[in-house]
Amino acid sequence: MPDRSESDSRSRSLLRRLRDTLATPGGGQDRLDRITSLIADSMGTHVCSIYLFRDPETLELCATEGLNPDSVHHTRMRLGEGLVGRVARTGVPVNTGNAPSEPGFRYMPETGEEIYSSFLGVPIQRVGERLGVLVVQSREAREFSEDELYGLEVVAMVLAEMTELGAFTGEHNGIGATHRFPVMFRGTTGQEGAAEGRVWLHEPRVVVTNPVGDDPEAEQHRLEEAVISLQAQIDEMLTASVAMDKDQRQVLEAYKMLAHSRGWVRRMGEDIALGLSAEAAVEKEQSSARARLEQSPDPYLRERLHDLDDLSNRLLRLLTGQGRDTGAELPENPVLIARNIGPAELLDYGRRLKGVVLEEGSVGSHAAIVARALAIPLVIHAKRITNEALNGDPILVDGDQGIVHLRPEETVAVAFRDKIAMAAEAQKRYADLRDLPATDLSGKTVALMMNAGLMADLPSLMSSGADGVGLFRTELQFLIRSRVPRRGELAALYKRVMDAADGKHVQFRTLDIGSDKVLPYMKPQDEPNPAMGWRAIRVGLDKPGVLRMQLQALLRAAEGRPLSVMFPFIATPDEFHEARAALLHERDREATRGRPVPAVLKIGAMLETPSLAFAPDSFFEACDFISIGGNDLKQFFFAADRENERVRRRYDTLDTAFLTFIERIIARCDVSHTALSFCGEDAGRPVEALTFAALGIHSLSMRPASIGPVKHLIRRADLDALRRVILAARKAGAPSVRPAVMAYLATL
Ligand code: PEP
Ligand code: MG
Repeated sequence: MPDRSESDSRSRSLLRRLRDTLATPGGGQDRLDRITSLIADSMGTHVCSIYLFRDPETLELCATEGLNPDSVHHTRMRLGEGLVGRVARTGVPVNTGNAPSEPGFRYMPETGEEIYSSFLGVPIQRVGERLGVLVVQSREAREFSEDELYGLEVVAMVLAEMTELGAFTGEHNGIGATHRFPVMFRGTTGQEGAAEGRVWLHEPRVVVTNPVGDDPEAEQHRLEEAVISLQAQIDEMLTASVAMDKDQRQVLEAYKMLAHSRGWVRRMGEDIALGLSAEAAVEKEQSSARARLEQSPDPYLRERLHDLDDLSNRLLRLLTGQGRDTGAELPENPVLIARNIGPAELLDYGRRLKGVVLEEGSVGSHAAIVARALAIPLVIHAKRITNEALNGDPILVDGDQGIVHLRPEETVAVAFRDKIAMAAEAQKRYADLRDLPATDLSGKTVALMMNAGLMADLPSLMSSGADGVGLFRTELQFLIRSRVPRRGELAALYKRVMDAADGKHVQFRTLDIGSDKVLPYMKPQDEPNPAMGWRAIRVGLDKPGVLRMQLQALLRAAEGRPLSVMFPFIATPDEFHEARAALLHERDREATRGRPVPAVLKIGAMLETPSLAFAPDSFFEACDFISIGGNDLKQFFFAADRENERVRRRYDTLDTAFLTFIERIIARCDVSHTALSFCGEDAGRPVEALTFAALGIHSLSMRPASIGPVKHLIRRADLDALRRVILAARKAGAPSVRPAVMAYLATL
């Protein structure tokens, strides 16, 4: 057996020869042919073949030395079929001295391979993306050595990089041109709407242009330097992480362990000794660790994939000097693709984006809130899309279904455009209603307000025809900053909101943090159940400094105009009375300082916990208005986490029990003459909105895009007739009134 240094130098010389084929003129097929013969020659095998994906399910023999040349571009196999298909599916090499006896072996007579007993196949892959399979075969029945296996993996890595660089494109339908198939991703709706555009990767992938290293010592040195810088980066992040929560710190600790892992650095060193450049060595280890982790049944280990990717990408950026900003121009109609994104970053892109697709995220995440505020279609949980998508790829985002088509077939694109056109048509119809009231056939008018929280929302106040702002979520301004905003800043902002409202009613909600909304600069609470934890008014009352500052800002912004303030997540009358007293106290202080105070000050509570519906009459009497926060109220009524898609969808708003409960709140507000509105997401769903209106809620607050559809439906319906339908269904014992409501709508 040749000694290590001999096999290293043979491998280096092979890689250099491979690289030289890139520099020589000729088409993709020529190059592939030369490469298979070089590899067979260097490894002393009878056969070397390259199989590449034709489509995501099919592999094709694209070049061979040793098998029947006529089978090239004819022999195909499905993913998982035969030994080649197995390597492609699992990403794990197959090494056997007796291929025909291997489970799953499939004999392909046209290739003439029956005389070759030994088989070594390795995946051609980069960063979790399988491009094909590289195979060597020999007549004699022998297993290949570890060194040979390792050497072939290194060669496959170089092939993967060459494929990515487009070295093999050409005749035969662009062999080896990756990222060219249509792919559909099934995710979850974050924000409805449809968009067609071009991919814009938030974090562009690092391009490795030099997979082969000329001087192993120099490459090793570069790698070591980069690893030291990486370790320093992580140490710095850890030092700065005092204010982070336990989970975030744990992730950093895991990074630290990986970055200091001797095995990781040693394996990359071995790749370099075999002739890879430092960058290619990083990618090779990333790919093989990915393949291993993906096979793991342990979800914790699979989660570590992200850490590994992050770390490898950092290392690649250090090595290549490529930053996030590649200088590429935002394409026309950009659709942002990212693993995840923070609200501030999303706001920076703003309305320029046509759509957003995330691999992670959640319906209630800050990014989702911002996407909703900007009315940008958003799909979350689109797994692996950052691996597949390339900048500029055509993409269709179906926010309604949570589906994304990357590089779609023309037929799919045509059908999709029809859908967009129909939606635009409907929008036009709604625009025609803009200045008309939401009055039903019997003459009852429902106030349709909009939810807001960002300056970006304000233009919608006029364009949507909203009667006012029923919910101004003040926490968004806190979430998108890296420090607590100052009173002056807030006052200026609230003033701009009131100016833009131009006399229309605005209900400001005080800070609702905690639960899913964690401020980056506040020490997070390690709570077992944050949705029911220290959040919203509970924080405001326990640590009143920020609440007081916010109330002062609101009072000053009003400059004597009418002001409405509501407090979130009130669970007992005491909480409301205390918060109300704080606001009145601040108002009186402003008055004693000679500053103008609001001509009318309305103080309300958000009803988001069932307990409040059972509060004494005196509570309802003390409230100028009550706004039902349906998102939270529903989650606590059904004990179903609003962030957990699995349980959230189980419970319907038109469930008879929930509506009976809503009616109870309506009845209590009627008795005390307390104004009542509804401001959860359901207010923006036409059928739900109509049902609430029929039950007697005459003010609904929703996202601006929903105002048109809700108004359109209300104007066609008779709220009294629908009320009778609902009461009859309930009397008949229906567990849900949805079928009855839908039957009524069918008669319109
Ligand atoms: C609600 O809970 O319905 C609500 C409007 O508040 P948020 O969604 O901000 O919790
Ligand atoms: Mg709420």
